[in-house]
Amino acid sequence: MKRDIRPFDHEPIHMAQKHDLDFIIIYCFEPSLMARNDISERHLQFVYQSIKVLNEFLAQYERKVNNFICEVDEAINYIQNKYEINNIYSYEESGTIFTWERDKKLKKKFNLDKINWVEFQKNAVIRGKKNRDGWDKYWYAFMNLPLFQNSYSNSELNFKVKKSLCDINKFIFLTKYSKKFLPAGFLYADKYLKSFLQKRGKNYSKNISSPHLSRESCSRLSIYLSWGNISIREVYQKTKRSQLYLLYKRPFNNFLIRLKWRSHFVQKFEVEPRYEIECINRGYEKMKYDNSSSLLKKWKNGETGFPLVDASMRCLISTGWINFRMRAMLVSFLCHHLSQDWKKGVNYMANLFLDYEPGIHFTQFQMQAGTTGINSIRVYNPIKQSKEKDPDGIFIRHWVPELKNISNNFVHEPWKMTKIDLTLLKDFSYANPVIDPSLKNSIVKKELWKLRSDELVKSESKRLLKVHVRK
Ligand SMILES: Cc1cc2nc3c(=O)[nH]c(=O)nc-3n(C[C@H](O)[C@H](O)[C@H](O)COP(=O)(O)OP(=O)(O)OC[C@H]3O[C@@H](n4cnc5c(N)ncnc54)[C@H](O)[C@@H]3O)c2cc1C
Repeated sequence: MKRDIRPFDHEPIHMAQKHDLDFIIIYCFEPSLMARNDISERHLQFVYQSIKVLNEFLAQYERKVNNFICEVDEAINYIQNKYEINNIYSYEESGTIFTWERDKKLKKKFNLDKINWVEFQKNAVIRGKKNRDGWDKYWYAFMNLPLFQNSYSNSELNFKVKKSLCDINKFIFLTKYSKKFLPAGFLYADKYLKSFLQKRGKNYSKNISSPHLSRESCSRLSIYLSWGNISIREVYQKTKRSQLYLLYKRPFNNFLIRLKWRSHFVQKFEVEPRYEIECINRGYEKMKYDNSSSLLKKWKNGETGFPLVDASMRCLISTGWINFRMRAMLVSFLCHHLSQDWKKGVNYMANLFLDYEPGIHFTQFQMQAGTTGINSIRVYNPIKQSKEKDPDGIFIRHWVPELKNISNNFVHEPWKMTKIDLTLLKDFSYANPVIDPSLKNSIVKKELWKLRSDELVKSESKRLLKVHVRK
């Protein structure tokens, strides 16, 4: 298993079940991957907890996911010492450059060892596709295919991982999944999908950009989809078949469109994983930013003095989730207002998002940073967003307690308080804005636009349109 920790609609397990040969299921917590900048403890804890939930289910068949805490080749060598391995089944991984390189190395090893490694396509993301011809149609066809009906039988193999390859005492942090986060595991994915389709989803479109209302009305399935606790196909089919689909066709269709966006972004990343390390439009590597480390630190800690920015960052740190609009605003504020290269913040946010999916994260981050050359450059004004999306300051007051007792007149712009207003508030301690709150001095957007006439930016834009844009 990789990012597919679920018992149902699972093609690799389905194929393993079809054989006369017995099989075991393994997951590797790879120390080299765990040490990467984009991976954080909360991701690994979610995975560990998801496997625990899955193993409780599999126990009735005397099966389990065998956890290894070592590199994949070490795990395979250990299994090879006990058994002959004929086949390895997994999903394709549209991951970072690191996971690509790891998979290439493994492929070589498996070839030498005469092991047949079959990788199945995931979520209609097509490996090796050079453009988007016919992709949309293909996505719908894939989503309408029947789900894999996994039925488990007991295993004859009495397999056990030796202690030194799964020593949880050395990685005890894995067992400490916080209750502040959404519960992990396939059972909860199902529960959240049901509550969305039966109740929460009716206000999906209306509340999607509100930082606090969206916590209930959005599906909140991203975490489960990113780690594969449920398949997109199952979500798609259950939505289409849900009792309320006809009644709430508009919000539910908006939701379904976003499921397609998910695969669309991952498809971009599958084709060009260098999204992770450089501007996808190479011409934008010429951009110059201030990159002040003290401003970066304030953004990271939610101490910028801009209430909605700080509330969003603190909420993300605490709960691992914020809605799309607030994610976009945080990136926009970082790059356009604080003049920071997107590379300065991208891994930090990946660490905080419990739903971190490289294929969406790096592509969206660059889109919001304005470094693709093919999307319009959108700069979110955090004060305007604050007044529109959190008009009564409910979200702000919850996450920025320094502003708890402040009136609605000032909750979006506390710097506008006069000395007299301030004396009425005891112990007011909220930070002053780290940049001029009129936000008039931002030159980043102008520079980004100027670069659009650069020859390299223009030729890269042409190339990107050919490869990544649907016809
Ligand atoms: C800078 C930035 C980084 C992001 N990083 C991630 C990430 O690492 N992982 C991730 O899952 N989403 C990411 N998103 C997209 C989006 O914000 C989340 O998918 C969404 O907020 C998840 O909440 P939900 O499951 O309630 O979504 P819903 O609105 O209920 O949508 C259903 C599903 O559709 C997909 N989806 C929704 N919006 C988008 C979108 N704009 N692009 C692609 N897929 C989408 C997700 O899988 C989501 O679970 C990012 C957005 C931005 C601006």
